[in-house]
Amino acid sequence: MMTPGFTGATLDRADRLRHDPDAFATALGDWRARLLKLENFEPELDSAGRMAWTTLADAPEGSDLLLLGLDGDKPCFAALTPDMLPPAGRPMRMFALLDQFAPGEAATYAAARSLLDWHMRHRFCAKCGTATLIFRAGWARTCPNCGAEHFPRVDPVVIMIAEHDGRALLGRQHGWPQGRYSALAGFLEPGESIEEAVAREIMEEAGVRVSDVRYIASQPWPFPSSLMIACVAVAEADAITLDANELEDAIWVPREIVRAVLAGEQGPFLPPPPYAIAFTLLTEWAKG
Ligand SMILES: [Zn+2]
Repeated sequence: MMTPGFTGATLDRADRLRHDPDAFATALGDWRARLLKLENFEPELDSAGRMAWTTLADAPEGSDLLLLGLDGDKPCFAALTPDMLPPAGRPMRMFALLDQFAPGEAATYAAARSLLDWHMRHRFCAKCGTATLIFRAGWARTCPNCGAEHFPRVDPVVIMIAEHDGRALLGRQHGWPQGRYSALAGFLEPGESIEEAVAREIMEEAGVRVSDVRYIASQPWPFPSSLMIACVAVAEADAITLDANELEDAIWVPREIVRAVLAGEQGPFLPPPPYAIAFTLLTEWAKG
């Protein structure tokens, strides 16, 4: 199977260092330690087109250093500064850079971006409202008032195609680029299994009843903290009842047409971009 976008990180996350303040201090003092270069949350590239790193001396005044992991034995960090603001939306410049990243670099970037964003959105204790402090090398926050510990969250999202008689159900949301169709998607709700969420979302958005949900692949999606869980489900019938709030249109596309469009041919829809798991999902389904 093709590697989904934002996966395949090569850094060792080095959980042991998070629990050992002495080892973490040693990593911070390591002359080989590297700092991920970010400009307003966007990655910078070096002259070789690789994701740019610098030394810890370049960390802004007053920043906290979060341990992303080890590259071999080189500790790698990201800097959290007090005046950072969570970025709004997904800048297109960054998506252009993604195509240039070496394998695994996008995954390291995704982890750094999600972790920084989580810190900015969780500066106060969810139990008592007191300002919290960073601990565990940047992978948790603790409350000095009530002692609660808070850890970075991941929000699961199901993304799926229903299949019926050799065709895939694809939808388009309002505001997408002209012609773009992709898999349907939605957040899991508390108390739901992946299979139940897949069936509910397809029923809600397209009025199609499905069964036999099967898992295909998953992908972190760092805008800000989703985990995309890609599935295929079998539709009982092909009549579509559209939820016009969620979708602008939905269509059934035969497997050979999906295959041709993914191969770059003109077709009835524009495919999702390669770094999106919908692309991985369609590619796997198109194989039959
Ligand atoms: Zn508290």
